[in-house]
Amino acid sequence: RRVKRGGCGYALFESEMQREQHRRRIMQRDVGLAVDKGELSVVFQPQVDARTVAVGGFEALLRWKHPEHGSISPADFIPAAETSGAIIPMGAFVLREACREAARWTAQLRVAVNVSAAQIVQADFAQLVKDVLSETGLAPERLEVEVTESLFIQDSATAKMTLQEIKDLGVSVAIDDFGTGYSSLSTLRAFPFDRIKVDRSFVSDMINNSDAAAIVNSVIGLGRAMGLRVVAEGVESDEQVAMLRLLRCHEIQGYLFGKPMPIGAYAHLTGPKHPRTYSSALPKLREI
Ligand code: C2E
Ligand code: MG
Ligand code: MG
Ligand code: MG
Repeated sequence: RRVKRGGCGYALFESEMQREQHRRRIMQRDVGLAVDKGELSVVFQPQVDARTVAVGGFEALLRWKHPEHGSISPADFIPAAETSGAIIPMGAFVLREACREAARWTAQLRVAVNVSAAQIVQADFAQLVKDVLSETGLAPERLEVEVTESLFIQDSATAKMTLQEIKDLGVSVAIDDFGTGYSSLSTLRAFPFDRIKVDRSFVSDMINNSDAAAIVNSVIGLGRAMGLRVVAEGVESDEQVAMLRLLRCHEIQGYLFGKPMPIGAYAHLTGPKHPRTYSSALPKLREI
């Protein structure tokens, strides 16, 4: 290993880069085997009504536990899976698991599943959704697909067609991480979405930064004007909830209401004794 002279800051930087490259190579190598080796699991995070705090649904999020490297964040392995093609079996896995789980809930809650552009442009994606719904018995109205703006950059005709096929089944479609893409406003015109998810970066800065607050305010107004439901992502504080209520955001999701966890952690919300609102499950929230 080459360690340059001229300050340990530089050497440290170099070795960190090497470690990072090493991790990326391991990921590229192993990501394709993760499904078959049973290393993937799905966790769920609640989405609640901003006013009543009633749970409307859960977002399903993938987790990968690598035998040597421990748990790897989807922010790291999803891009690797997208380039290697592993996202196809992985995406089918998470869709199936999420629908199978949701079909067992006694509460008629929604389940949202993230879908990559690479999956949507596959010729048989709509058929996969159809198959999984009939296999699991989940009502199509209870499934939501979350896509990002990157979907509409390339091959948007195929993407639109596939999404429309899914919508025709009764499944809803959300635009995720809204505001971070290249052409947010034209994305809204590209497809009749059901829900907009305001990116966490705006929500987390909203209290201390008036520009971020202005953006959140505008996105909520825009969504409402277009007849869409608006969800704020990454809500962590009571102050954020208060502001989002003032701005008339419909729904909120974030660590304040629950981290992404195995569904067993939310059995009180999905099982036979589920309370009507989240506030009765978490007394703290009544005071917000
Ligand atoms: P996303 O779809 O925008 O999901 C929200 C991310 O924000 C999740 O990260 C969640 O754990 C995190 N989050 C939620 N609330 C809070 C909060 O209050 N504070 C903070 N700091 N973070 C919060 P996660 O699970 O690491 O997933 C990262 C991204 O990876 C997702 O962003 C999504 O783009 C992608 N991803 C995850 N699961 C899947 C999947 O099954 N398929 C595909 N294609 N992508 C996935
Ligand atoms: Mg998402
Ligand atoms: Mg998001
Ligand atoms: Mg995000």
